[in-house]
Amino acid sequence: MELKWDGHTHTRFCYHGSDASSEAYIDRAIELGFQRYTLSEHPPLPARWVEEESLYRELAMPREELADYIQYAKRMKRIYEGRIEITVGLELDHLPGRTDYTESLFADWQHELEDVVYSVHYLPGAGGAMRCVDFTPDYFREHLLSYYGTMDKLVEEYYDHVEAAIEWVSRLPVRSRIGHINLIEKFAAVLPEADQALIRRRQERLVPLLVRTGVGVDVNTAGMRVATCGKPYVPEWMIAACRQAGVPCIFGSDAHKPEHVGTGWDWFEQLGKSSR
Ligand SMILES: [Zn+2]
Ligand SMILES: [Zn+2]
Repeated sequence: MELKWDGHTHTRFCYHGSDASSEAYIDRAIELGFQRYTLSEHPPLPARWVEEESLYRELAMPREELADYIQYAKRMKRIYEGRIEITVGLELDHLPGRTDYTESLFADWQHELEDVVYSVHYLPGAGGAMRCVDFTPDYFREHLLSYYGTMDKLVEEYYDHVEAAIEWVSRLPVRSRIGHINLIEKFAAVLPEADQALIRRRQERLVPLLVRTGVGVDVNTAGMRVATCGKPYVPEWMIAACRQAGVPCIFGSDAHKPEHVGTGWDWFEQLGKSSR
């Protein structure tokens, strides 16, 4: 039987989430019968990574807190030993033009890290400024869609970055998976329609890349909780294709508050049964 594992969760070190203690999240995971639980907080970002100061502060912890987070995660691991396996991780960002930053951050902590979710949250926009893919629909329209012109161009750009991200993270000596591979569809219901066949083609291209690199897939269910998306951040056909090809598919609730833990697990479990 498949390990019941929530492989993508956040903590009070996330400033766009909840300040609840990790005990509240992990007790919920135990209640739901999870056997493994990964703490995968957003790490600090380079100074002035996005131009809006208030947004920057929300996106990630300040650099000086990373050591505290790692200690906190290790403490959770000790406290829960024997009840649930806690793994210490990070949701590292693919930073176009600044992969050196992520590389040095990883080098500082690689001996503590058991799991890395590697995510594309940023794309270059006007003037080369970095823009969030998943902040709000208005922000997306104003800073990304207006710059790229069409959804299809944005889709191409986004998947170019996802491909580069898979290649990049595969070089790190740690268990890794690519985060929420269709985050670009987060606000789909309120944006111009993107060519679904194009999205499908770009996603299909990822499967052999994942096979070659050994990177897994974050089967991220957060999209089910977002009204403008309403579906998981990985399509079902892709999970089936990845499993067929031996690519690890790891469930991730992307919990930003305790009640998010494990959401969508029933869907994920059913999927496993029907593809077996
Ligand atoms: Zn987050
Ligand atoms: Zn993410």
